[in-house]
Amino acid sequence: MTTETKRPHRWQPMGSPAARGYGAKHNRIRKAMLRQEPNCRICAQAGRTTKASHADHIVPKCLGGSDDRSNYQPLCLAHSRSKTGREGAMIGHARRRARAKLKAGDA
Ligand SMILES: [Zn+2]
Repeated sequence: MTTETKRPHRWQPMGSPAARGYGAKHNRIRKAMLRQEPNCRICAQAGRTTKASHADHIVPKCLGGSDDRSNYQPLCLAHSRSKTGREGAMIGHARRRARAKLKAGDA
């Protein structure tokens, strides 16, 4: 029984920003977005005005998110970090589950 081909995602090691898909196009979208929407979206929802510095992928690229402007939202540094951390935890959890499944298949 092989479960090897049923992995949910291809996990890529962290490379350079360009290797992760954050090249010239990302910079262009980020700049245009910050001109349109200069403040952090999550802070705005909480009634705060915080200058955004990051173009965040609403649906992460590793989960099939697009590079369209509609998949970007402006975030401040703090919110960008906390969102990335949550996604990292989610990915780690999925990885452990996939490994546990593989082990169960071997037994
Ligand atoms: Zn914020």
